[in-house]
Amino acid sequence: MIKGGTCPVSSTPVFLENRGEKMENVTGYLHSVETAGTVDGPGIRRILFLNGCPLKCVYCHNPDTRKFKQGIKTDAFSELRTIAKQKEMLLSMKGGVTLSGGEPLSQPAFVKAVFEGCKLMGIHTALDTSGFVGHRADDELLSYTDLVLLDIKHFDPEGYKRVTGVDLQPTLDFAKRLAKLNKPVWLRFVLVPGYTDDMQAIKKMAKFAKNLGNVERLEVLPFHKMGEYKWEAMDEMDYELFDTEEPTAELLDHVKSIFKNEGLTVY
Ligand code: SF4
Repeated sequence: MIKGGTCPVSSTPVFLENRGEKMENVTGYLHSVETAGTVDGPGIRRILFLNGCPLKCVYCHNPDTRKFKQGIKTDAFSELRTIAKQKEMLLSMKGGVTLSGGEPLSQPAFVKAVFEGCKLMGIHTALDTSGFVGHRADDELLSYTDLVLLDIKHFDPEGYKRVTGVDLQPTLDFAKRLAKLNKPVWLRFVLVPGYTDDMQAIKKMAKFAKNLGNVERLEVLPFHKMGEYKWEAMDEMDYELFDTEEPTAELLDHVKSIFKNEGLTVY
């Protein structure tokens, strides 16, 4: 493998050109791309939103990303060539590449190939996942992953099912596996009045997060209503939160204090 050179024609690092044939065969389906994201991992980041998600979160703000094998068909090599062109900016802004969705682990081969290429270029990688299909991330994929942004949407199994339509346990299993690997994690929790503001469950989640030992920060994300127009545009999907209010500042502070009381770094 030749590291460091750049193809004079395409501006693509030579080592990527050498692996291009392999990576061209790894297809992926994208919903969209954000070129300078600031909230899904450290620094300024290129964020690829992958299509396909097995969850049905009641508050999903990207319901159009849930469908499988839809959206922009691409391949890992094409995406890496584009990432290579943005590399200097991403490095200078202490950022990297985040794969989000949808559920990126619905397309594990694509995630693995993109992250492998990023690591060959020295670019930081972050995986934004619900963890529900964490078993699809093999150890090699995780070896190319610098940070996992892991959503725990409720800590009570019934509450989790009510919010997502699926079981909680696979997410907890994935969290424990990441802890064993000592993989840095940012845990994320969306606070939705009437759905996830169960204080007993939040206290249990705080203890669980603290005991994992690899949680660098815990983000409490207040439910907001900005994505509702997408639901209105998608007649075939039911949305039940039109009457749900955003959490008050007091409620948000209270929930954050529960996590802080466990010694977690809270945002
Ligand atoms: S995991 Fe994300 S993309 Fe999937 S349904 Fe929930 S909010 Fe939507």
